[in-house]
Parts: sequence; C-alpha cells; structure tokens
Amino acid sequence: MNVSPDRLSGDASWRQDAAAHLWMPYCQMKTAAPPLPVVATEDVYLILEDGRRLIDGMASWWTACHGYNHPHIARCVEQQLAAMPHVMFGGIQHPQAARLAARLAELLPGTLNRVFLCDSGSVSVEVAMKMAVQYHLNRGQRGRSRFLAFAHAYHGDTTGAMSLCDPETSMHAHFSGLLLQQAHRELPQNEHDLDRLDAWLRDNAPSLAAVIIEPLIQGAGGMRFHSPEVLRGLRRLCTRHGVLLIADEIATGFGRTGSMFACQQADVVPDIICLGKALTGGTMSLAATVATDAVFAAFYDDAPGHALMHGPTFMANPLACAAANASLDLFETEPRLQQARDLEGILREGLQPCAALPSVVDVRTRGAVGVVQVKRLSRVPQIIDAGVRRGIWIRPFKDMVYVTPPLTIGPDVAGQLCRAIVQVMHEWDAAA
Ligand SMILES: *Cc1c(COP(=O)(O)O)cnc(C)c1O
Repeated sequence: MNVSPDRLSGDASWRQDAAAHLWMPYCQMKTAAPPLPVVATEDVYLILEDGRRLIDGMASWWTACHGYNHPHIARCVEQQLAAMPHVMFGGIQHPQAARLAARLAELLPGTLNRVFLCDSGSVSVEVAMKMAVQYHLNRGQRGRSRFLAFAHAYHGDTTGAMSLCDPETSMHAHFSGLLLQQAHRELPQNEHDLDRLDAWLRDNAPSLAAVIIEPLIQGAGGMRFHSPEVLRGLRRLCTRHGVLLIADEIATGFGRTGSMFACQQADVVPDIICLGKALTGGTMSLAATVATDAVFAAFYDDAPGHALMHGPTFMANPLACAAANASLDLFETEPRLQQARDLEGILREGLQPCAALPSVVDVRTRGAVGVVQVKRLSRVPQIIDAGVRRGIWIRPFKDMVYVTPPLTIGPDVAGQLCRAIVQVMHEWDAAA
C-alpha cells in the first residue's frame, strides 16, 4: 500500500486503523479522549488533519529545541540518507559518530570525553548504571551495585531506569517483584540536609555504585527545581565517599535551562552524564552516555572481562548522528542559548496571572520551562481541549500544567501561548 504523507493526510481512514491497532502510552485507552490527528509540523506549530495549527507548548517532550522542520537538519539527514542510512557499530565506525562524540566532549565540562551512543534516554540510563557498577568491579571493589536516587526523580521507563524513579509516583507498585531495590531519599535542599546525607553515605556508600540526579530541574517526576548549591554539595559528598555521580541531563541538556548543560550553572562535573531528548534537535531517537577519562580508565586495560558489555543494534545510527551534528551546528550559528534565557522572563511574566487563581499553589520558571502547579489536577481532557480551541497544545500531568516550548518560539508567540494558558486556567478554576 502506498503510504506517502500526501496520500495519508487526504485519507481519514487512518483514524480507524489507529483506533483498531495502535497502543498508546500512559493512558487508559478505553476512557481517554481521542488523540490529536497531527499530519505535519512547521516552525513551532503542530498541523492537524483539518488544517488547524497549534502552538506546541511541549516541543514534543522537550525535543524540538530548534522548532520543527529546520532546513539545515533536513539537508544533513538527506545527505546522510543517500550515503549510508545505517551500519552496525560492532567492529565498525563512521565519521558522523566520531564527529558527534568529539563535539560533545568539547561542549561538556571537565574530562567527560568518552561517548557511548545509544538509542533512547532510558537506554542511556541503563548504560550509565552498567558503567557505574562495572567501574567498581573492574577496580576490584565488589558489592557496589545499588544506586541512590531522589524523591520525585524520573529516569526512564525501562526496568533498570524505572527502579531509580520515585517509588510513589512511578508505578513501582505494579512492578515491585521485577524492580531492583535502590535507595531513595528526599533531595537535599540546604546545608543541613547535605550533612544528613553525608552521615547516611558514611554508612551506605560501601554498597553504592552511584548517586543519580536530574540537575537543576527534576522533569517528569514533578517539574521541581533545586539550586546549583545543592548540586555542588552532592558532588562534594560523592567525591568524599568514593561514589560516582551520574547527571541525567536527558531533559535539561541542550539549552533548556539557559546553559548548554545544567551542570555548568553549578560548575559541577559529574562522572557520567546521560543525554537524549533534544540531542537530534527533535528529529530522531538518539542518546548518549558520556564518561570521564577516570571512569573510562577502569575499563581500558588488558583484561577482556573489563570491557563494557552493551551494544544496541541501532547504536550510533548515522542518520541520527547526522541530525545531532546538524543540531549542534545550529547551536553554533543561531542564538539558541540566549533565546532560552530570554524565554525565562517571558514565561515568568506571561504565566504570572495564574498565581492569583484560588486553585493554583505555585507558578515557577527555570530557563525555558514554565510550570503552573495546582492543588489538585482534575478534568484534564477539558484543559487539553480548551487549549486546542485556543490554538495551543499542552499536556497537563500530576498536579500541573507546564510548558517546554521550542527555544525558537520568540516573544510574540510565547506571549500568545501564555495568554492562552492563563485563559484556560481561569476557565478551569471558575468551573471548579
Ligand atoms: C525522558 C527522560 C528519560 C527517558 O528518555 P526516553 O528517551 O524517553 O527513554 C530519562 N530521564 C529523564 C530526565 C527524562 O526526561
């Protein structure tokens, strides 16, 4: 059957195929509202089958940092498609992967120089976990296979990564027999909390491989912010107790917080960093786990058993690497980080009117992330629908409505997005 985009968008029967055969994420399909039929993207807009254009407040889950359909990324991917769409990475290398690794190493702080390219954020977390455990083993330290993760953390949906997520908010109850048992604690907020964590680490460090944190912004676990000082304190404690620090920058990386990586705002160099989401400018699935020279050194010797035992089939896919290289070009040639920093003020001012609503408990902004937190989120389909009627796409969850727009959105359209949210929240609050 011919499934070219032209033919698909003119033929509404695909909706029946969808209803009959697609399995959708994170929803009870029997009761959920019908998903939006999106047939194209352009600039910061999702284009619906009936021609309506919605401002994408989500940038497709933090990924579309340059907006959609950037011609430079398209050109680079087309050239790579003609030359070589994919090769296995076992025993083979290619220039796109090499260039990308070198550029990431150059951009990342400290000696984060050794890049393992994999296929999704969750997998990059799995790889980081295996790296951390094997790092200690290779250095002759047994029994260090647990991780410390924090309340409200989100690190992915695969079973290893899921064991690191907040046990309360991430379906752990469904999978308790399946998940690894990790240590979970509240994220320190001040020096006193850090002292308590210091004491806890004195007792528990010998069984820990690493501490994992989403720097500055905890994302899907609740959009909570913490200070650079807390991150610096964690770095200090990990070094003191000989535990690795893993920074999960899958959501925060590539400008979202106003700097290329959130760690840089705290002058912190983690031992391992996970990158994903915006890595390919929102075009393809690719992720990276990057280790410092010191971590890599524990694997680099004459013992065959010290090799890192991981290798996804589509790792370092050349098309995805070409997209990532093109995306990094755009960070060099366009004022992306400045746009992210400007968005912080625009979102803060634009969303502020929500703070006056009785059901709103907090309005906060960090970089290009804006959050309206409510006492209790209800009638989510009505919120989404009201947004669509006003020309925006938002997807509220847990206890908030939040936006992570494309960094290229610009003040006018960002203002439109905020005004629509304020109207939607007014309407929602009045009906409560
Ligand atoms: C999205 C996300 C992941 C998982 O990435 P996937 O590509 O969805 O597997 C992990 N950690 C954080 C912080 C994320 O935001």
